[in-house]
Amino acid sequence: MNVKKMLCVAGSLLAGWAGVAVAANAKGPICEPNARVNSTTYYSCNGGSHTALDISNGTCGEWNHRGMLAGSYAYKYYGGCGAACYGSTCNGGAGNYYVVSGGSGWEFRQLHIYANTSSGTKTCDGCALGLVGGTGEATGPHVHADNRQYGTRKSAWYTSKGTTCGTTGNCTTVIGAPTL
Ligand SMILES: [Zn+2]
Repeated sequence: MNVKKMLCVAGSLLAGWAGVAVAANAKGPICEPNARVNSTTYYSCNGGSHTALDISNGTCGEWNHRGMLAGSYAYKYYGGCGAACYGSTCNGGAGNYYVVSGGSGWEFRQLHIYANTSSGTKTCDGCALGLVGGTGEATGPHVHADNRQYGTRKSAWYTSKGTTCGTTGNCTTVIGAPTL
């Protein structure tokens, strides 16, 4: 077998193993009417570059921070941060967080969890991942959600749904279509 053919075989095996990236639907993370999107492409809507969604209902350590993906997905948990509402230096600024991994380097992440007994790696649909809080690099309690490919944050997943500053972040509403 020549080298070129071997590379092709290796490539198809990798694609089969990693899966093909597909679109998912993402709902708001907080089941409460006051939950709102307050950062999108820019922090606080007109600050520096952010390219993700921040969603808050103005509470900390009170309301569940739920898995946003509609359907059953595997949420891998990265914990170890103590309770915080207004930031901490932990896990490189992410605080307690979850990652759902898809194909071709895509992932969906939810950051700044205020850990409780619900926090831990799990496969579930819209379940409680912990509480809304501000662990990691956070100036206040909120849910940060991003969709990255090989570590680069993308905006199409929320712009395609028309989600912008002030949009509801309630758990009954689809606010994004991340690639996974
Ligand atoms: Zn954020």
